[in-house]
Amino acid sequence: MGSGQVTSSVPSGTSEFQGKHVTVAGLGVSGVPAAKVLHARGAVVTVVNDGDDARAREQAAELEALGITVRLGDGATLPEGTELIVTAPGWKPDKPLFLAAGKAGVPVWGDVELAWRLRGPDAAPWLAVTGTNGKTTTVQMLASILAAAGLRTAAVGNIGVSLLDAVLGEERYDVLAVELSSYQLHWAPSLRAHSAAVLNLAPDHLDWHGSMEAYAADKGRVYEGNQVACVYNVADGRTEDLVREADVEEGCRAVGFTLGTPGLSQLGVVDGILVDRAFVPDRHKNAQELAEVSDVNPPAPHNIANALAAAALARAFGVPAAAVREGLRNFRPDAHRIAHVADIDGVAYVDDSKATNTHAAEASLAAYEPIVWIAGGLAKGATFDELVAASAKRLRGAVLIGADRALIREALARHAPEVPVVDLDRTDTGAMLQAVTEAKRLAQPGDTVLLAPACASMDMFTNYNQRGDAFAAAVRELRA
Ligand code: ADP
Repeated sequence: MGSGQVTSSVPSGTSEFQGKHVTVAGLGVSGVPAAKVLHARGAVVTVVNDGDDARAREQAAELEALGITVRLGDGATLPEGTELIVTAPGWKPDKPLFLAAGKAGVPVWGDVELAWRLRGPDAAPWLAVTGTNGKTTTVQMLASILAAAGLRTAAVGNIGVSLLDAVLGEERYDVLAVELSSYQLHWAPSLRAHSAAVLNLAPDHLDWHGSMEAYAADKGRVYEGNQVACVYNVADGRTEDLVREADVEEGCRAVGFTLGTPGLSQLGVVDGILVDRAFVPDRHKNAQELAEVSDVNPPAPHNIANALAAAALARAFGVPAAAVREGLRNFRPDAHRIAHVADIDGVAYVDDSKATNTHAAEASLAAYEPIVWIAGGLAKGATFDELVAASAKRLRGAVLIGADRALIREALARHAPEVPVVDLDRTDTGAMLQAVTEAKRLAQPGDTVLLAPACASMDMFTNYNQRGDAFAAAVRELRA
């Protein structure tokens, strides 16, 4: 659904934005629709944008044709008379524009805050998911479970339908499964979800947030004002701390998920069965079977954790156990997330190109053994000691690619000196075929060749999709 449809259905002149001077910070996926919606509601909109390239000019022309002012090449100066800033989520909080806004007492909202404020009086409640890794997968599992329960729903936020379209479009929803990034949460002060989950917390985006504490605090905002359940990861004490610190509605419960036997008010796993000890009558004595581990697609440990978090949110919304099982069975993961590519000569080839940080790679390395690990790319300031030390005993060998591969090589030398390492001194895209060929040489029947780079891809590829496609193409070539 295009944003044009959204704006055309909004009557102008009837909103709290009538005549209000609003500055939209940043053109692009969130800025352009935000500017249009605000303009349609009678706001006097100025868009400011750092860049001044061809794409920006094209978008500016489109907005100017509607009567919106656009300032290209100057995202730093606060326009005179600004009463509200609506920012693209990625803009860093220490930008001069925001410092000036802070001094002038001008509030700053992100795209999520805007959508939250614009939703109608009978709007669908939000079930929100955040965390360092697993957000997209969990939100899609959740939407699949909610749909299996016969609810009108969509996976929205960072994926699929945009939040603005979801709250303003013609489609009616009973409940939304909302993926939220730490940036979006930073700029969403009044968001109040029905229930929310923080899947895990590992250092990421620290240059943006300034510190681990600030990053955690932004993630923790997802729990603020929850009505029914704050879902946390029993294995990650920081997520439980965030629940404790949150100010929630009276009666809202803390509900944990664990890969072990669930305690009271938890969901967990017993003998290969996903069980609920939180949303059952007389939970002191009872537990409810939800699904089997084999219903989870693929049944890797971290993915079972995602399924439990999704199930907890769905159960908080009152979804019956049978719908959890059906929803999990119907779920198909997005590409490049531990995707099984092929088996060749008894060796499995698995594409987890989406493992772009060490925390994600550690989870996927924990799912296989023995592994020939293909890793490397742009490290984004990460260190690899913890990851390599935790995974060393599973490694048959490693093939390293990309700009920062020396960092991984050094960590392997420190923590897994006996593991054979092939260091590929090339960063052209053809390197992937060579990497897969070397991995095949190291692998033995029963092994898994796993692409879990622990790094971003942009040194060699356009994005992680292209990296994963290159891996799959190389595997196909091996087979030919
Ligand atoms: P996000 O939307 O948070 O980036 P995705 O669902 O797209 O998360 O998964 C990204 C990658 O993170 C996966 O390819 C996998 O390597 C890893 N991952 C998924 N779930 C988890 C989890 N619960 N814990 C750790 N890593 C995970």
